[in-house]
Amino acid sequence: MQKKIAFYGKGGIGKSTTAANVSAALAEMGHRVCQIGCDPKNDSTRLLLGKVCSQTVLDMVKQYGEEVRTEDLVHSGFGGVQCIEAGGPEPGVGCAGRGIIVALEKLKALQALPEDAIILYDVLGDVVCGGFAVPIREGYASDIYIVSSGELMSLYAANNIAKGVARYAARGAVRLGGIIGNSRGIANEQALLEEFAKRLHTSLVAYIPRDRTVNKAEIHRKTVIEFAADSPQAAIYRQLAGFICENTALSVPTPMSFAELEELVLDYGDE
Ligand code: ADP
Ligand code: SF4
Ligand code: MG
Repeated sequence: MQKKIAFYGKGGIGKSTTAANVSAALAEMGHRVCQIGCDPKNDSTRLLLGKVCSQTVLDMVKQYGEEVRTEDLVHSGFGGVQCIEAGGPEPGVGCAGRGIIVALEKLKALQALPEDAIILYDVLGDVVCGGFAVPIREGYASDIYIVSSGELMSLYAANNIAKGVARYAARGAVRLGGIIGNSRGIANEQALLEEFAKRLHTSLVAYIPRDRTVNKAEIHRKTVIEFAADSPQAAIYRQLAGFICENTALSVPTPMSFAELEELVLDYGDE
């Protein structure tokens, strides 16, 4: 059965790093995995491919038009993970969200995503506009995970994403799978993230330490799973991958007001 997951979160929070490590861990467990970058940065699959993907869906559609084939869009990465980058417009022109719509529609039309695979969408969540909400809105993904640190602006983005999920949960199968904490090392961060998740009517499904192994692996263009297979950090990504596979505790989130969020952060962070 196809499992359709999406990771959302603020830019720079660690979505792609976490997604690539989870994909690598899932592949190691014997799953067929497909990771789709939905961020104009186009670097979602860099750690899996060992390079930035230069053949995005939008580029290939522009080049080949109706002649574009699945093999032009899907690239094989670590452990056989199928890597796709939706692509985006040149800085300063066009609408990135529109690009995601076009790219995902093309993948659907080509039936490019295997029926028996775990599909992982890695989506920028700074703006939950129509385009970036497409994986949630159009049923491309059903299990949504939000990557966040304990920083106010990261939680602010996470809360907005939860609003998007709540809106579309009312009329579809989309649900929140949980919050993935990616540490920035701020005061009481894990407890704050746990409480944040609770207020949203979900749970903190992982708390990933900030670790230099991640940076080392990144400069070698590798996931931690590949670069430091026996490290404690790799074990954390494997545990998260296993959890995501089994998770059935999916919820309709209850987002907060900004004032409530500010108060929460003050309660935990002011020391
Ligand atoms: P996003 O996809 O959300 O924009 P990235 O995954 O590209 O963010 O991560 C941004 C930066 O943070 C990268 O340089 C990455 O290596 C680093 N990073 C992410 N998670 C961790 C972590 N747990 N420990 C250390 N560095 C991390
Ligand atoms: Fe497009 Fe969304 Fe950017 Fe507006 S905010 S231009 S809809 S990607
Ligand atoms: Mg990214």
